[in-house]
Amino acid sequence: MKRTKIKDLLSSTEFGRQVVVKGWVKTFRNDRFIAINDGSTLNNIQAVVDFEHTGEALLKRLTTGAAVSVTGELVESLGKGQRVEVKVTELEILGDSDAEKFPLQPKKHSLEFLREIAHLRFRTNTFNAVFKIRHHLAFAVHQFFYSKGFVYMHTPVITGSDAEGAGEMFRVSTIDFDNIPRNEDGTVDYTADFFGKPTNLTVSGQLEGELAAMAFSDIYTFGPTFRAENSNTTRHLAEFWMIEPEMAFYDIRDNMDLAEELLKYVIKTALENCPDELEFLRNRLLEEEKSKPQNERSDLDLIAKLNFCLENEFERLTYTEAVEVLRNSKPNQKKQFKYPIEGWGADLQSEHERYLVEKHYKKPVILTDYPADIKSFYMRLNDPDAQGRRTVRAMDILFPGIGEIVGGSQREERYDHLVGRMDEIGIPRHEMDWYLDTRRFGSVPHSGFGLGFERLVLFVTGMTNIRDVIPFPRTPKNAEF
Ligand code: ATP
Ligand code: MG
Ligand code: MG
Ligand code: MG
Repeated sequence: MKRTKIKDLLSSTEFGRQVVVKGWVKTFRNDRFIAINDGSTLNNIQAVVDFEHTGEALLKRLTTGAAVSVTGELVESLGKGQRVEVKVTELEILGDSDAEKFPLQPKKHSLEFLREIAHLRFRTNTFNAVFKIRHHLAFAVHQFFYSKGFVYMHTPVITGSDAEGAGEMFRVSTIDFDNIPRNEDGTVDYTADFFGKPTNLTVSGQLEGELAAMAFSDIYTFGPTFRAENSNTTRHLAEFWMIEPEMAFYDIRDNMDLAEELLKYVIKTALENCPDELEFLRNRLLEEEKSKPQNERSDLDLIAKLNFCLENEFERLTYTEAVEVLRNSKPNQKKQFKYPIEGWGADLQSEHERYLVEKHYKKPVILTDYPADIKSFYMRLNDPDAQGRRTVRAMDILFPGIGEIVGGSQREERYDHLVGRMDEIGIPRHEMDWYLDTRRFGSVPHSGFGLGFERLVLFVTGMTNIRDVIPFPRTPKNAEF
């Protein structure tokens, strides 16, 4: 007989039917009740064994974490908390689990502890919920772009250009560190390397994405991205996933509209497709709040927060407007910011972004038109303002509790302006010749953005550390498996 997944059994009404359930033991109580989970749902199915029939030796092996196969009749449950259960006629232990050594016991473990046993944390309800939501969000991203006719374009993981992300690149090389080939002047001879030149893991698929957008109009990439972030934060990973659409004939406003629509679509999909998982995480958060002293508690309700995000338009303002708001803000005047806002031109720090989103506007904010000097060379220059200040059509989307979730811009489509900016910064033109061809042949206004997938998962799940929303986190000094 084929096995049925627990999710399907729990909603079945075919009482009397013979079923096979396979999964892992969560708990075994009173020598009778096995709670089995197979990952298809957060909920366990109860399998009821009969001591006399099964025998003591077998029952002893029903420890938390053991893999089992049970066969029996699906019956209505008289117990509280479940509608159906399985009356077991056949029990097989597929894989024993040494109860003394298995680190996951039927109790609540701290996220810190679970991070230390990241290879086993998949088996907890919390991570079942988080990674299920992650899965649904990823699928929703593809659905969104598919429905809009965007082409899913795979940009390379290994790149030969380093125009972006200087200092944050992971070098890709087959050079033997113990025997480095050198030129006569002592420098490394990269012609001896695999690609005959220095190469890196991608920090963004944008520049390659632009090449494709100049032919397909609307494309997106969604893949792993690598940055050697040398600071340990709760918002940065060395390996993260990024969603990067690139659209021909889009200006900055179209770009903002698309980003807001995408975020709302995927959040809505999570609410629709993951009600059990979200409810579980919501309660987990509420419990956590209860354990804090009264004055430190927040009244945050995860599901209400997500719905609020869907129902309200994101606040849109320029960097210049934001600087005014910040300059006049209480924390600035009371010198509570670590980096006080004095004038125009400096990049905003996370304390500033948090103030705007969490205290001032109390909703997601889209900031645009940043000073050119703090943004990338490929962003569309605006005409100088009345004071002669240069801004670019950049946009950052800031989310409550997260900070920056999206970074994007309208791209500089004018060849002369683009090479002017490259010269200013010192990017050699010959290295970017392939990119400049987009501006030489049929250049059009175009835009795009990067949405950090883990930051989205953080927001939707209410988790607070980015290490807890990616199955295999990569951070400094941490790449165990
Ligand atoms: P931050 O200011 O937070 O360091 P960034 O401005 O360097 O981000 P972008 O180059 O704009 O990042 O990348 C686009 C998006 O990718 C960001 O808005 C963010 O959501 C995400 N992102 C960037 N760096 C990381 C990282 N190290 N780990 C996880 N997500 C990241
Ligand atoms: Mg960064
Ligand atoms: Mg940033
Ligand atoms: Mg950014």
